[in-house]
Amino acid sequence: MKPAPFRYHSPGTLDEALALLAEHGAGAKVLAGGQSLGPMMNMRLAQPDALVDINAIAGLDYVREHEKTIEIGALTRHHAIATSPLVRAACPLLAEAARQIGHYAIRQRGTIGGSLAHADPAAQFPLACATLGAEITAAGAGRTRTIAASEFFLSLMSTALEPEEIIVSVTLPKAPTSEGQAYVQFSRRRGDFAIVALAATVRPDAGGHIDQVRLGVGGATDRPMVLAELADCTRGEKADSGWAARLAKAAYDAVAPIDTPRVPAEFRRELVHVLTRRVLVTALERARR
Ligand SMILES: Cc1cc2nc3c(=O)[nH]c(=O)nc-3n(C[C@H](O)[C@H](O)[C@H](O)COP(=O)(O)OP(=O)(O)OC[C@H]3O[C@@H](n4cnc5c(N)ncnc54)[C@H](O)[C@@H]3O)c2cc1C
Repeated sequence: MKPAPFRYHSPGTLDEALALLAEHGAGAKVLAGGQSLGPMMNMRLAQPDALVDINAIAGLDYVREHEKTIEIGALTRHHAIATSPLVRAACPLLAEAARQIGHYAIRQRGTIGGSLAHADPAAQFPLACATLGAEITAAGAGRTRTIAASEFFLSLMSTALEPEEIIVSVTLPKAPTSEGQAYVQFSRRRGDFAIVALAATVRPDAGGHIDQVRLGVGGATDRPMVLAELADCTRGEKADSGWAARLAKAAYDAVAPIDTPRVPAEFRRELVHVLTRRVLVTALERARR
């Protein structure tokens, strides 16, 4: 299928892109990697009047290190994130999640900004960013604002972004050396979207007890869920397989997944149970290493 007619703009600066978005309002769409927008336009699920292609704007494709954080430009491709030595060292969960996005060709074009703006509840980056406590920076006409990932995803493919805003970067905390991180997912075939995915960070203390845990679930509901209270309740417990099994059962009880014709809710709940245990054990093993 072919998309409906649209006007194409390729601004050379962020200011020009923002001015175009302000001019066209909700009728315009930002084009980044085109790996979600392209298929949606071809299927006529999206029919923008104008496309504002941000690929010619310099300075949106980078991974930078700060004292306690790393900052990733919105146009950074999935492949660059998956293979960046800096991301792999400072934020291993994000790199591990990036490696599992779709297929090689998609990872070569797709961008982190596009993935976050698209907000597919089964996508890897929204889950990883929500779990890690990332901050998303968006530029609008005359202002820039930072939105916590926990407040960014509102529901299925819906975010706190205004139509005239462009995501410019994402900032994530660097993992301390005592922390283990892991991302696991279940999909029917390699390269398919996850049916359910789990992300976790685990920080045991010197005595082998849980100091801090972050646990996120993707694919089960209309947006990534961070089970902060459940995880916090286990602080002080002995960090072992029994702890992982108890937290996995608590996650199974807490998550009420969506029911779809091809994937019943109970199947998703079972996946939450199995994958939570798996992601916690893996993160714990990595923390011990
Ligand atoms: C066959 C196939 C399999 C896939 N499998 C997976 C998968 O397993 N996991 C996964 O996560 N994704 C998957 N994807 C989607 C892929 O990761 C996309 O790259 C991603 O969802 C969107 O990024 P993009 O840069 O291509 O954005 P685009 O397609 O260009 O844009 C997507 C949306 O985001 C908006 N947007 C883009 N950039 C910005 C920005 N900087 N600021 C504001 N709005 C912006 C656009 O206007 C549009 O609404 C798959 C895609 C295909 C075609």
